[in-house]
Amino acid sequence: QAKQERRGSYRFFAPEMNDLALVRQTLEMDLRRAVKAGEFDLHFQPRFDTRTLKPVSVEALMRWQHPERGMIPPAQFIPLAEELGLIHEMGAWSLRHACSVIASYEGIAVSVNISPVQFRDPGLADLVASILKETGLAPHRLELELTEGVLLENTEMAQTVLTALKKLGVTLAMDDFGTGYSSLGYLQHFPFDRLKIDQAFVSQLTAQDSSRPIVQAILAMARSLGISVTAEGVETAEQFMLLRADQCAEVQGFFLAKPVPLAELRQTLSVPPDQILSRTAA
Ligand code: C2E
Ligand code: MG
Ligand code: MG
Ligand code: MG
Repeated sequence: QAKQERRGSYRFFAPEMNDLALVRQTLEMDLRRAVKAGEFDLHFQPRFDTRTLKPVSVEALMRWQHPERGMIPPAQFIPLAEELGLIHEMGAWSLRHACSVIASYEGIAVSVNISPVQFRDPGLADLVASILKETGLAPHRLELELTEGVLLENTEMAQTVLTALKKLGVTLAMDDFGTGYSSLGYLQHFPFDRLKIDQAFVSQLTAQDSSRPIVQAILAMARSLGISVTAEGVETAEQFMLLRADQCAEVQGFFLAKPVPLAELRQTLSVPPDQILSRTAA
């Protein structure tokens, strides 16, 4: 009897605990508490002009500063936040915080990721409008990053929401381009200003790899549609050089700059281009 209990309590606390329901319940309680306590933070990752290596924009990336578990990346809590509907409050906080911070960075724009769950909220455009007004950020300096998932579900509704957002003067980017279903038709029919080539293509990019013709084809297509392109997840000098040779206008990735907390942003944005370029020689 005692032995059994011990085994039971061992199972309860073991890291390989397979009681998923319990893990989930704990995480859920934690997340609800975190929203109330405001435990979220934003890190910022610059996006660079490929030619000049000057930063043009930053992407705001959410972090959860857990009091005991430390920094938790978004992949570990955004899906649950979406499921619980907490993403509305968290996403509004992200937008407001990102806009108010970047308003004081002259010449720099900001990108904010919008979850498909937020996208389904009929109040989204009004929320964006009031945050722009509140923070004084010029609309053209805000870019919203959406994934093509939002377009699959309800095409007509998506068209209406995207049009309303465009009317505010913000720009729209399709994130993780190339990982979903079709993407191509979407670019023609929806008012996207930019596509971000997913890091899955960029991370394999070498002079020989078959990713390169795919990236080249995406670049050619975007060019003829008048859509800007950012390559995400650029980690090596070789990837950077290939993208530059293929005239990809903007790059983002660890090779250029990692996401940093606000306290390090000014410093990160002021790294001189030749210092970044000198890494290509190394
Ligand atoms: P994403 O929007 O595609 O963001 C790019 C992710 O790639 C970020 O991960 C970034 O840190 C990472 N990354 C950037 N450069 C490199 C690189 O060179 N190599 C590699 N391996 N990774 C790189 P992160 O910050 O963990 O965010 C993951 C995802 O979580 C984001 O993907 C986005 O979909 C979502 N997310 C982040 N913040 C928010 C938010 O405020 N709201 C919503 N709805 N989603 C968010
Ligand atoms: Mg993004
Ligand atoms: Mg992405
Ligand atoms: Mg992603």
